[in-house]
Parts: sequence; structure tokens; C-alpha cells
Amino acid sequence: MKIDLEAERKEILNRYKILIKACKRRLEKGDKEIIRKAFEVAVEAHKEMRRKSGEPYIYHPIAVAQICAEEIGLGATGIVCALLHDTVEDTDLTLEDVKGLFGEKVAQIINGLTKISGVIDNTSSIQAENFRKVLLTMSEDIRVILIKLADRLHNMRTLEHMKREKQMKIASETLFLYAPLAHRLGLNNIKTELEDLGLKYTNSDGYYDIAVKLQETEPQRKRFVQKFIEPLKEILGEQGFTFKIFGRPKSIYSIYNKTKTKGVAFEEIYDLFAIRIVIDTPLEQEKSDCWKVYSIITDFYHPSPERLRDWISTPKSNGYESLHTTVMGPEGKWVEVQIRTVRMDELAEKGYAAHWKYKDSAADKESNLENWLQRIREMLENPDPNALEFMDDFKLNLFSDELFAFTPKGDMKTLPVGATALDFAFEIHTKVGEQCIGAKVNFKLVPLSYEIKSGDQIEILTSNKQTPKEDWLGFVITAKAKSKIKSSLKEQRKKVAEEGREIMERKFYKNKLDFTLQNVNDFCAFLKIPSSQELFYRAALGNVDVKEIKEFVRFKNNPVKPGRKTATPKIEQLVTNARGSSDMLVIGDDMQKLDYKLSPCCNPIPGDDVFGFITVGEGIKIHRVNCPNAIKLLSNYAYRVVKAKWLNDQMISFLAGIKIIGTDELGLVNNITKIISNENNINMRSIKFDTDDGLFEGTIMIYVHDTKHLNHLMEVLKKVKGVTRVDRIDEKD
Ligand code: MN
Repeated sequence: MKIDLEAERKEILNRYKILIKACKRRLEKGDKEIIRKAFEVAVEAHKEMRRKSGEPYIYHPIAVAQICAEEIGLGATGIVCALLHDTVEDTDLTLEDVKGLFGEKVAQIINGLTKISGVIDNTSSIQAENFRKVLLTMSEDIRVILIKLADRLHNMRTLEHMKREKQMKIASETLFLYAPLAHRLGLNNIKTELEDLGLKYTNSDGYYDIAVKLQETEPQRKRFVQKFIEPLKEILGEQGFTFKIFGRPKSIYSIYNKTKTKGVAFEEIYDLFAIRIVIDTPLEQEKSDCWKVYSIITDFYHPSPERLRDWISTPKSNGYESLHTTVMGPEGKWVEVQIRTVRMDELAEKGYAAHWKYKDSAADKESNLENWLQRIREMLENPDPNALEFMDDFKLNLFSDELFAFTPKGDMKTLPVGATALDFAFEIHTKVGEQCIGAKVNFKLVPLSYEIKSGDQIEILTSNKQTPKEDWLGFVITAKAKSKIKSSLKEQRKKVAEEGREIMERKFYKNKLDFTLQNVNDFCAFLKIPSSQELFYRAALGNVDVKEIKEFVRFKNNPVKPGRKTATPKIEQLVTNARGSSDMLVIGDDMQKLDYKLSPCCNPIPGDDVFGFITVGEGIKIHRVNCPNAIKLLSNYAYRVVKAKWLNDQMISFLAGIKIIGTDELGLVNNITKIISNENNINMRSIKFDTDDGLFEGTIMIYVHDTKHLNHLMEVLKKVKGVTRVDRIDEKD
């Protein structure tokens, strides 16, 4: 195909013009020139390159800059960096060049962005340790995170041009790290889009299932929203408010999660949308006007007392402000109503960057974010040796809802829901945490493990004789407290281990064994103890037996018939050794027949979309692509993932589970079992039925050939009178 270069040149300029239009409002004198310069440098640098889709590469940096301008609201420096973000990494342009052309600040941000892609995009795996580096780099300048998010968003929007494995990997990382980051930065629109796209590529069945249903039910929803807002519109107008009122659908991802975690069907989810009222009002009247609107709504519709959320008096720490209530609408349906001002709305959609626009009023919220970045930096300074665990803690803190509690002097601290008195102590100061012996909550004595409720006033009691204990790790949930306790325990262990070292030395001497590094390491390997420090620690506690040393001496003198293996086999070995014993799946790029096990966590059967995961001790395990563990495996250990595909025409049976829910009709159980036993080639392994107050729940484990077979059976069961739901379940009983 011939490429029309002239037309492309025009299109590039056209896209540039649209970009300039989008950032115009924010530009100051001289900004336009510097953006123009960045654009020209980027065009020149990328001129020979094309994207996977065949388009000129420069479309990508322009699109990223467009997102930065329009959806994040970055200023000129951010736009310049977005345009240049891939140059140092992918073209001949050097960081020095950038510094010479655009100055120190731009070079620093580009350097941050380049470092991240060095970590993420070029290696086949993202490991937790790398995540840490990413976060560390990003916390240097917030714009590095924001541009990286815009970059990721555009790559997700254009993911269809990538190979399937690449799609899985990128989409998993997106759900694992980038969407939570966007959430934490208050970039609600970007977070939602990242999550929806992430779901689309990691579990397309789940995605389209909901997308289609949402579309089908749209007219019905529209009618309902119309009916709901009609009377409110009139009154709000009469009261002189300038306002917008509309229905906002919830994201596909959040609906999907609800069906998964709460086990409810799409049809049963009542909050498929929320009503949003955005009023235009001066800053000093914001709070009282929002409550006025609340009062008008609740005159009309009855509110649920448990579901009032006031994030205007106490904003979330990502800056979110809004007043939420849930009211009983027409047709006896609960409806969530969100009340906010234009300023709050913009903040909620665009997050951090929107703060700049409202600089004066948002000073304290900005410092909130500064605090958060500071906390990230602190956490990163104290890296946990087990980086994956660190990521888990960290992510937990990114996602969780927040509560607030007060010190005796009335200072407010924000903590994740579920935080304990001990978390609070560490939040005040590391020393306070380490020496904490108890706490008084609202003047009453409570244990360290007391779970804080929002609004508690907490006084921490300390003693300088106190030190962190092992079981404290079970009392805390914040990443900060966890990492501080762990590093303090490590210190303590180190001291104990020093005593143990002397004990070990004497024991070696008694058994005529030289106390050399080699011997110590061999002994550790012999006992399968991970490090010499761990060995010494055990020795200090009296947990190393003389018998074990004697056995080791014997083994050393005669290593041919060891009872224990000293090394774990390499992955390559594992793969080649396992060759040729199975014939239902083909594995790897060259689609070989290898040995594998079906993972019990998701119970795959032929027809399922699957991948292989190389485990250390148990060979290759096959997981379903939508296995609950898949995202973690794919994003952290992509290098251990191998392709896997089912071979056709198998008549071997696989165990699968289904759950049936219904009303307790007479003869229901009988009908179900009859259907299953009448089906060809299906054997039941177990069946369990419970009824509770007219509700019926059954779990059946059956042997089937493949998904087609299973889906067919599920369809038939759905038609049985009294059955309301039939679902496949992941785990074996
Ligand atoms: Mn890029």
C-alpha cells in the first residue's frame, strides 16, 4: 500500500492545532512557542517510526499531550514533556540535547519517564521490586506520574493492535498498578477508563456481557432518570439555583466487580447509575448550598439514614469532595444522589491538576497530596526485602476507603478503614509506634489491636521498655506501620543472630568441622535454611540439633546418596524434562506438548481461555485467564508465563463446579438431578443442597468435556422452574 506522505503531514499539523486549542486557556506568554518547539523536535526525532497500527509514531506523543491538556489539565511544561516523552528512549535524541533545548526541569521529568519505561516496557516482566523503582522515580515530580498515566491510557486505547500476550500483560499491569494510582490521584475519569479497558482485555467475555446488557437496558434507565429528576428540576429552578442534573452510569468494571464479589446478577444491582446534581455557586456558599439541595431532594424522596456521606466537611485524602445520599425513588428503587459544585466536580474528574486552577481555595488539599507523596517516599526509603509483600500492602493502601481520627490535641489523621490503634501510633511517629503499649480511645483503655472508628479521639500510651513484637504484624494494616515493624524485628533478629553465631562456631568445632563460609552455607542448604543469619538465629534459640550437624558431616563425607536435594531445578530444565507426557494442551511459543497440572484455584477445563505458569516446585500449572490470581501472576511474573492452548477432539472429562440458586420449589432437586443424569456423558461427583427460608442453594461437582458441554448444561438448568441463577464456580469443593 502506498502511503500518502503529504496527507499525513497535514493530519499531523491538524492534530497539533487541536492540541493547542485544548491547552489555550492555561497558556501564558511564551508558552505557545516552547510547545511548538517541542512539537517540531518530536516530529523530527520520530519521523522514521511507525506504530503497530501503521500510523506515524508522532500521533502517539500528540495524543498523550492531548490527554495531559484536556483530561488532566497540565500546563506548558507538562505538555512539552508529554510531546517529548518517548524521544530519549526511542530516538537519537539524548537527555543532554533535551536539557540544552528545553532546560533542566523538562530534562528531569523526561529522565524520570525514560527510567520508568526502562523498567516497565522493555523487559518481559514487571516485578514488585521494579514497581518500587517506578514509584520512587515518579514521586520525584508528580508530573512524571501524570504523563505516565496519560501514556498508559493512550496505549490502552490502542491496544487492539498488539499481540494477545502483550495485551494480557499490559492490561494486567494497568489493573494492578496504574488504575489504583489514578484513583489515588483523584483522576476519576482516567481511572474508570483504565479499569474498563483493563477488563476488556483481561476478561473480554465478562466485559461484553455487561456492556451489552447496559446497552439493552439503557432506554428503560433513561425513562426512570427522567421521571426521577422532573420534579427536582422544577423546585431547584424556583429556588434560584444554576445547576445541571443528570444520570451517570457506573463503570462496567465496577458493575463487573459487584457481580463477582457480591455474587449478584446484573439484573439485581440497583445502583447501575447515580444521579448527579452540579450547582454553580460561589466558594463561600458551597457547603450551605449543597445542604440546601440535600434538603430539597429529601423533601421529595425519603433518604436511607445509613447512606449519607459528607465529603464536603471532610474531603477524602485524594481531594474528593461531594455529598452523597441514597434515596427511595419511584418504583421502590434505591437511587444514589451526588451533590456537588462545579469546582468539586472538576476536581473529582480531573484530580490533582485541577487544583492549580483553584489554587487559593485548595491549598490544604494540595498539602494533602504532598503528604501522600511524602508518605510514599518514606515507605520507599525502607524497602522490604520481600518486595511483593510490600506491593500488596501498598496497593491495599491505595485502594482502601478512609476514616479520620483525632489526637488528644485535636489534630486530624487520615487512615485506611480497618486501621488499628497501633497503626495510629505509627502514623503519629515511628518511635511512638515502636514503644506503644496501649491506647485510650475516647478516654477508655483499649488494646493495640482496637479497630478505629471514624471520629475517635485517641491517646497513645508508651513505655520506653517496649519493643515491636512479631504478632504486631497481625494488628496493623498500613504499609507504613508494617514496614517499620518489620525493619525493627529484623534489627532485633540480627542482634540475636550474633549470639547464635558464636554458639554455631562452638558446635562446628566440637564436630571437627571448620567454621568457614563454605561450610556454613552448605549446612544451610542441607537444612534448607535460606541464609546463614537465619541459621544463627535458630541456633541462638536452641533450635539447631547436634544430630543435624552429625548428619551433615556424614553427608559431606559421602555426598553420593543424599536424602535431600540441595538445589532447586532451573526453569529451563523443568520445561525440557517434562516434555512429551501429555496430549490435551500445547504449551509455549512453539506449542509443544509438555507436562502440566490444572490449577485448583480456577479449575480450568478445555475450551477455557488459559495460560501456563511455570512454578518452582510443581512444573507448569494451567490457569484460566480470568482466574482470580491471574492478574497478579501476569503482572508480576510475566517471564514465567507460557502460552497454552487446548487441543481439540478430546473425550476426557474434567471436573467443574456449578452453583444453582432458586426458590425452594417442590421437586426442584429431583428435576435438577434428573436433567444432569439424562445428559449425555456427564457424571456427577458430588451434590450438595441447602435450603433456608424458602431459598434454595445447590452446589454440584460434575465431570464434563469442555466449556461448550458445560455451558449447554447450565442453559438447560436455568430453564428449570424455580431456578433463578446458575453460575460456574471457580474452586473445587
Ligand atoms: Mn509512550
